[in-house]
Amino acid sequence: MAGSPKRPVPVKTVAVMALLAAAAVLLVLLAVRTFGLVPQVVRERNATPTPAPFYGNVMVTTPDPSAPTPAPALRNGSRGEEVIRLQQRLQELGYYQGSIDGQFGGGTEEAVMRFQQAAGLAADGLAGEATCAVLYSDAAPSALPTPTPVPTPSPTPVPGGSAKGYIRPDGLPLVVNRKQPLPEGYRQYDLVEMNSYCDSAVVKIKYADTWAEREAVDALMVMLRAAEAEGIGNWQISAAYRDVAYQQRLMDNKVKDLMKSNGLSAAKAKQAAKNTVADPGTSEHHLGVCFDITVPGKSFSGTKQYKWISAHCWEYGFILRYTKEKRSITGFSAEAWHYRWVGQPHAEIMHRENLCLEEYVEKYGTP
Ligand SMILES: [Zn+2]
Repeated sequence: MAGSPKRPVPVKTVAVMALLAAAAVLLVLLAVRTFGLVPQVVRERNATPTPAPFYGNVMVTTPDPSAPTPAPALRNGSRGEEVIRLQQRLQELGYYQGSIDGQFGGGTEEAVMRFQQAAGLAADGLAGEATCAVLYSDAAPSALPTPTPVPTPSPTPVPGGSAKGYIRPDGLPLVVNRKQPLPEGYRQYDLVEMNSYCDSAVVKIKYADTWAEREAVDALMVMLRAAEAEGIGNWQISAAYRDVAYQQRLMDNKVKDLMKSNGLSAAKAKQAAKNTVADPGTSEHHLGVCFDITVPGKSFSGTKQYKWISAHCWEYGFILRYTKEKRSITGFSAEAWHYRWVGQPHAEIMHRENLCLEEYVEKYGTP
């Protein structure tokens, strides 16, 4: 036999080898899984975030972590810069006509409620997050234009200004004292002549041609009528508005007097006069919102009228301007008869916190 012919590889063997190869592939795959050798492609696919759904025009914003936490709702009794901002906005929109004073009182509350009504919000008078969101947006509804008041012809010959000079831009009462004279170009607002304006059955006006700002005179009359209702009457007004020229005449007369009676030189007499007469421009009477309240023929400080008015004047927006206690701050000796109208809530706060006007403005004013 010349070499044995190659025997064909049996079919059985081929099948076995194929099986073995398949088993080897399986083993490799198994090892890859078991030892964490996940192919890179798979890992990357898992790490890619699902694309965010598209919201059209809605802007999805992430809250700014540096933004301050929302402030609690402003309410009646709140006070401060946020209240000023609120009042300014309410005024701008025509809901608020009061002073921009940073004091959230009844007037501000009413304005907030009117705004809330107009904006379709719950009218609870609280300036919370929801209300402010609308209020400070461009969509804030503005109040219907109020009809222009018919101007009343004024008999006063005194030129008036367009703004109440006795109220500071921040809404607080204007201070006039020896250190802070009447501002240059100060103009009266709405003076009335008290003899013709006031009910003479309630108050006697001592001198003819006595003028004062209407707003203050109105408050004065409310106060004096209330006193009368409690059996305290016989009121007199000895002084109200004084212009700078009048104060200058007072000063000139005093200087002449001292030169004549004491034989002083003009310079020395001038110096001495300053002790008793306020320099022109430094008297609070220039504002037209102060009254020297007296009782005819009596020294005021011991009267029942003084007792009543010094206790109750704050309820009507007045302050007893010069007291012994605050003398070093006001620069004036105590004057039982001198009352300054400041309005509310100023009078009430000054009364509650025992502050004179200088202290009040220092504490609550915007510099
Ligand atoms: Zn006075």
